[in-house]
Amino acid sequence: MSRLIALIPAAGSGSRMGNQLPKQYLPLAGKPMIYHALATLCHAPRIDQVCVVLAPDDEVWVRYDWSPFSNKLKVLYRGGATRAQSVLYGLNALQSEGAIQDDDWVLVHDAARPCLSSAQLDRLIDALVQDEVGGLLAIPVADTLKRADEKQCVIGTAAREGLWQAQTPQMFRMGLLMAALNKADNTAITDDASAIEALGLSPRLVLADAYNFKVTYPQDLALAELILQQRGTT
Ligand code: C5P
Repeated sequence: MSRLIALIPAAGSGSRMGNQLPKQYLPLAGKPMIYHALATLCHAPRIDQVCVVLAPDDEVWVRYDWSPFSNKLKVLYRGGATRAQSVLYGLNALQSEGAIQDDDWVLVHDAARPCLSSAQLDRLIDALVQDEVGGLLAIPVADTLKRADEKQCVIGTAAREGLWQAQTPQMFRMGLLMAALNKADNTAITDDASAIEALGLSPRLVLADAYNFKVTYPQDLALAELILQQRGTT
């Protein structure tokens, strides 16, 4: 039976937040941001293990108490220079320990998406667990999309029909994901699905909701906090 392993790449610096503390540790509803995604993933009965990939020189992780997650949590100080490298190096480490098999499912989730709900996670797993390729949570683009020049003036409008915003988790079989990431240009891709697409495969889009947004700019923190408070999980 294939197992489900969640992997959170958390080796980024979060430079767009303009903060010294890496984004995954910024305080959010009384906890470091990554705590919230960890809670959702660790509490999911179908997820067997949750691996966090940190930067090799991370000194912040040990400042917090992670004991509520100790039955499923595994910490790997194997992050790379890009998100894709952090995922790949994390998978390499798990594989070399014999902790993961080729047909296990890997759910890669950004530390910066603290508002993933258990319901969305369940929908993703239900939709993909029998799938040939795998896929990701995503939402259809609602806004009109403009292309800008270097002076921030519009040089075109992109047709939004058929465009979706990719979220995470992104769920693929371990063997396929490793093959894809090994082959991809890891400095250019920003998600796991694009590495799979480069193999000529078509990941499935599973309809998500806007609550699962990526905290990127300082004002996103207040919004994420409101969502978590309203849910009563904080
Ligand atoms: O910077 P961005 O928000 O796109 O990062 C998405 C996720 O990838 C975050 O969880 C971040 O910590 C992670 N990341 C990483 N290693 C990097 C860069 C980003 O694990 N070198």
